[in-house]
Amino acid sequence: MYRSGSTPAAWLTDPPDTDLAMPGRRCRRHWPGQATLELVKASPEAQLRLLELADLDAELTRIDHRRRSLPEVAEVDRIDARDAELRDAIIAAETNEKDLGREQAKAEADVDQVRARSVRDRERLDAGQVSSPRELEVLQSEIASLLRRQSELEDVVLDVMERREAAQSSRDSLRAERDELASRRQTAAARRDEVLGELGEQSEKAADRRAGVVAQVPADLLDLYERMRVQHGVGAAALRGGRCEGCHLTLNTVDLNRIRAADDDEVLRCEECRRILVRTPDSGL
Ligand SMILES: [Zn+2]
Repeated sequence: MYRSGSTPAAWLTDPPDTDLAMPGRRCRRHWPGQATLELVKASPEAQLRLLELADLDAELTRIDHRRRSLPEVAEVDRIDARDAELRDAIIAAETNEKDLGREQAKAEADVDQVRARSVRDRERLDAGQVSSPRELEVLQSEIASLLRRQSELEDVVLDVMERREAAQSSRDSLRAERDELASRRQTAAARRDEVLGELGEQSEKAADRRAGVVAQVPADLLDLYERMRVQHGVGAAALRGGRCEGCHLTLNTVDLNRIRAADDDEVLRCEECRRILVRTPDSGL
């Protein structure tokens, strides 16, 4: 940490007065023109517990992050998205198939109508009911025309049938894909649940260990730690080799000298990142 040496270090801002004689007690002090300052005192052992707490919180955060970024979760989500697409496509294909079924029925009815009329004409012709040559000619011409019409309509039926078969085949392959997807989802969901279960166990264990550590930290120190954690993500950092492990900045000689002069039960704060700075045997003091 490189800054002008005249700035008072935040961890040493609390004036010596009667409050200091009561370890573990916190007081709020308002200085004109300054932010609210808080004094928390705690034994070096309690302070070291904060580092365990910070490690456990980091572990819990890692587990939570892993839980949210699991490829197994993404895979199930992808399958669900595809499933929704297929469900819509199947509905559309079914509707299309039904429409073509109606179209086919209508085209077949048209053929039947023309065929029936043609049969009737042919019966009249065969029965010899028509004797006038002029009428006979008209009837024969109509039969020929009806045959042509019937052939055209039969082509229409064939065309609709082909389209309907294509629609059925498309609907069937969509259904097959959806069935196959359902079985893939089952496998993927089982895999996801297994990994989530493992992470849940890890998380529970870490939370249990955390509760054990929390029980050994005085309430005011814990409160400060939690507030720092909310503000900075990490509540406490170790001072190692003259460096704050929270922001990774090296403290200058003035700061280090101030820390050397501080009482063991003073709770220090890194002026750079504001986290609780915990002294360790290898702090480099
Ligand atoms: Zn720092």
